[in-house]
Amino acid sequence: MTKPIKIVLLGSTGSIGTTACRIVENHPANFRLLALACGTNAFVMAEQIKKFKPLLVSVKDYDARENLKEILAQKEIHKPPSILIGEEGMLEVASVHGGDLLINGLVGSIGLTPTIFALKRGLNVALANKETLVIGGKLVMETARENGATILPIDSEHSAIFQCLQAIDKPYHKKVRRIILTASGGPFWEREKKDMQDATPDEVLKHPNWDMGPKVTVDSASLMNKGLEIIEAKILFELDDDQIDVVIHRQSIVHSMVEFTDGSILAQMGHPNMEIPIQLAMSFPDRFPTTLKPLDLTEVNRLTFEKPDDKRFPCLEIAREASRKGGLAPACLNGSDEGAVELFLKREISFGEIPQLIKGVMKSSRLNGDINIGNVLKINESARNKVLEIVKK
Ligand code: MG
Repeated sequence: MTKPIKIVLLGSTGSIGTTACRIVENHPANFRLLALACGTNAFVMAEQIKKFKPLLVSVKDYDARENLKEILAQKEIHKPPSILIGEEGMLEVASVHGGDLLINGLVGSIGLTPTIFALKRGLNVALANKETLVIGGKLVMETARENGATILPIDSEHSAIFQCLQAIDKPYHKKVRRIILTASGGPFWEREKKDMQDATPDEVLKHPNWDMGPKVTVDSASLMNKGLEIIEAKILFELDDDQIDVVIHRQSIVHSMVEFTDGSILAQMGHPNMEIPIQLAMSFPDRFPTTLKPLDLTEVNRLTFEKPDDKRFPCLEIAREASRKGGLAPACLNGSDEGAVELFLKREISFGEIPQLIKGVMKSSRLNGDINIGNVLKINESARNKVLEIVKK
């Protein structure tokens, strides 16, 4: 029997992390959880410690650690693992001895440094954290290459493209005419522009097909999520901007497509459920059964494809522009979007103000400087702060 894949999981209590844990539970002979990191959800972390007995865990801060210790004592777990805290703790988890695969399920720019850490140690990275590629760009790909490590995409669209691209060898960009990212259109696809402007967080968080965290769900409603995915795909598959198209596909059954230079198109289909792309990133090149019932295409009945609408969803073009500019522009885009979404979720700005704020900050930011981890994180943070400050005034 082959040895289980030893996994380090960041963001263990979030939507990606808890699904990854269920996959480990479903395939105990294939996977073992070695170390975990989460934010402040001590209750779920305590359950995970009880179930998976990791060697090492990390939580956000001192309070979360005290909370976790208390819950572990109540659960009568007498030999808990070492519990670290903060970004330092998370980075120690990311570089724990003996790991084979890092699953990065973090949300936000905080996901970049641990990816780099893991790649430098030669670990493969199953990547759900978009920001790693959006702001880290070529640096991340170079680090992977230099250390012989592989990045396995978890984002469903990129998993689809990754699967379709198994049909050809690298470099992809000469044999691929274009990739076609599918977008569900989010909860507002059927709405008039004027009816979207004042949408509330409650309306936005009702995503028709996918079950995700709040940041990604707001980004899906504004289509900024697709914009970030354009940048992610460009970097990951080493393509040009004009090789990436987007179509609106309301049913979320086709997860994306690749059109080759001969005109042949391959698509990857399946239930809109993250269990499939997460598990594939964990098992690749192997495949194991999932808990999902087979997809009945006669039940789906119709697959539709429509053109995106830049007038109602300006974020897509804002992101394309940042992608074409390259350099530090995607980090600025990401940071200003983080700030705008944060304000929207706190009900301090309207839904319609999200693209306006991002556009304003992109325009007023100076984007020259070297591309290194320090600089991209700095630009990301200062763009985020700029958005927060504009609104305070
Ligand atoms: Mg996606």
